[in-house]
Amino acid sequence: MIRKLLRKVFTRVATPVRTDPALIPVDLHGIRSEQLSPAARKTCAVLQENGHKAYVVGGAVRDLLIGHPPKDYDVATSATPEQVRALFRRSRIIGRRFKIVHVMSGPETIEVSTFRASQDAETDEHGRVLHDNVYGSQEEDASRRDFTVNALYYDPGTETIIDYHHGVADVRQKTLRIIGDPRTRYREDPVRMLRAVRLGAKLGLSIDPAARAPIREMAVLLENVPAARLFDEMLKLLFSGYAVKCLTQLREEGLHHGLLPLLDVILEQPMGERFVWLSLENTDERVRQDKSVSPGFLFATLLWHEVLKAWEVRKSAGVANQPALFEAMDEVLDTQARKLAITRRIVGDIKDIWALQPRFDKRAGKTPYRLIEQPRYRAGWDFLRLRAQSGEIPMEIPDWWNNFAHAGHDQRENLLRAAPQTADAPAKKRRRKRRKPAAADGEAAMADSSAE
Ligand code: ATP
Ligand code: MG
Repeated sequence: MIRKLLRKVFTRVATPVRTDPALIPVDLHGIRSEQLSPAARKTCAVLQENGHKAYVVGGAVRDLLIGHPPKDYDVATSATPEQVRALFRRSRIIGRRFKIVHVMSGPETIEVSTFRASQDAETDEHGRVLHDNVYGSQEEDASRRDFTVNALYYDPGTETIIDYHHGVADVRQKTLRIIGDPRTRYREDPVRMLRAVRLGAKLGLSIDPAARAPIREMAVLLENVPAARLFDEMLKLLFSGYAVKCLTQLREEGLHHGLLPLLDVILEQPMGERFVWLSLENTDERVRQDKSVSPGFLFATLLWHEVLKAWEVRKSAGVANQPALFEAMDEVLDTQARKLAITRRIVGDIKDIWALQPRFDKRAGKTPYRLIEQPRYRAGWDFLRLRAQSGEIPMEIPDWWNNFAHAGHDQRENLLRAAPQTADAPAKKRRRKRRKPAAADGEAAMADSSAE
């Protein structure tokens, strides 16, 4: 009897879709309800006490099975969003892409969604689902999820897992398998291709060959995904703690071309590569150590070598150092914005970090004193050090600034006297020489009016 049950749970049968779910008891999967967050348990309990079905679902169940601490908890329920809202005082309905309820409990927020059916969903001309807010049965809800390992329902009351698509078997076999026909599922939502790469890299699962095969040819579909959604997914990927692995894999799957318009350039230019890779390694390490990470800083590094290139072009056209940098920054960010909606706040952070860079060249007079008082000095200095680590500038520069920032007044004066003077003399010389022929165009006008 037990052997039969084990076989049923851990072996995959030929038919991919089943209607009778496997009910897997705790001694077979090992997840105890105490392992869940108190808020997740409470949310399910309140819903169940009020006559609704309610389960922890998705990433948290998958992560607990694999032995990763869950990042957050999702609950799936038979209750409508309005019914959920009525049961929890601290809750609100969020109506962006799908209608879901955020239930707040202590410091946690649990995302509660009503079982959803995917039939009759409205699609665009490429087959991409636009809205799927039609409520359905639990079985339908399971079928519209992306991967088998993401379609597991855990009942904290009975500690049972309800498994419609052999997800537990796939976790055991370390396979990321898509539910249904991969091409159809990617067409419905091309972001699933990115999710496959991210979840595979993060969880050490290999993407099932049937799900992997169509990715290369379908990568172009990412172009139809709204920029804001792509940006969200990109953030998840870059801050997963496995960014290096994810981006390596994205490149292998040919997904990076459709993604960040500049990511292909970034990953393929030798000069920028070391810099980007160093920064991603740092980010991964910080995420895994639970240290804070800044999207602005990371995007500033991802795009820096593009800025350097555009900056150089302008400087050789006679534009003065600082305005040339600002124009280059805008050009790079504009190109990027067409595909990826980097939020305004993050754009502000990126610009702050870039704009500080030429100021580190000026190691004379009062300027250094002002620079170290800047609120963004630390981020700017971290960035400077990364530039040195990647070989772009001598390590002597960030070292000097570090000494300066931590020194007393007399030591600072000594450091200033000893500092090599690298102020932008060459740029000024070039500007004077080119003044005449370039005066007709707008860039030269900028150069003329700029007082540095
Ligand atoms: P993580 O939170 O670790 O990034 P996750 O799988 O929990 O991974 P969420 O974005 O939190 O990702 O989604 C929760 C669940 O919703 C998923 O486990 C999956 O069942 C379902 N889901 C999310 N995105 C999609 C999608 N694009 N298509 C189908 N189902 C999805
Ligand atoms: Mg999640």
